[in-house]
Amino acid sequence: MASSLHHPGQLIVLVGPSGVGKSTIARRLAERMDVKYIVSATTREKRPGDEDAKIYEYVTRDEFFKRLDADAYLEYAQVYGDYYGTPKHPAMDYLVAGQDVLVEIDMQGALQVRYQYPNALLVFVLPPDAQTLLQRLTDRGRDSADEIQKRFRVAKREVQMAKGSRAFDHMVINDTVERAVEEIIKTIKHKRSGGI
Ligand code: 5GP
Repeated sequence: MASSLHHPGQLIVLVGPSGVGKSTIARRLAERMDVKYIVSATTREKRPGDEDAKIYEYVTRDEFFKRLDADAYLEYAQVYGDYYGTPKHPAMDYLVAGQDVLVEIDMQGALQVRYQYPNALLVFVLPPDAQTLLQRLTDRGRDSADEIQKRFRVAKREVQMAKGSRAFDHMVINDTVERAVEEIIKTIKHKRSGGI
């Protein structure tokens, strides 16, 4: 099965609850390393400030499902009512060509990747503590009070699950972005040298 082949490039997956700061970490990693960041497709509405956060390709549900039928996603998930997917191409093309690839996805997507691409490096990003995460969700000023509570509840469960799971290769606390990025870079080097 092609998906279980080990590619010359490393697939790096950043996963973690909403609001934990994955996008910021991903951006810093892409500045620091020679890695291709893959833009996800989503059916969610574009929000003000999206350009400064994570970049998406915004598609209709019809288009999203057309691509799903055509097996165009490396993984996909429904998150808070909207669909998100990582396009297989160009991600696989880069990996086959020996380029490292970075994706930033939710927990459901990460578990699909774990199963389909056993050699992927899965890094789970944790908040320093629950209160800090709640504060970050609130400070984004993006969601309603209800939405914030919903995301907070899901986040707490995800953190609990992740801590008890062996699916992730590394857990990193996002206390400061620079420190977290350093730790992730070290983990990637460790993986490259066969340590994981
Ligand atoms: P947001 O809409 O706030 O940008 O993202 C909501 C959640 O969807 C985040 O946890 C984000 O990591 C996740 N997400 C973004 N892109 C993808 C993707 O391509 N696949 C999956 N499974 N989750 C994604």
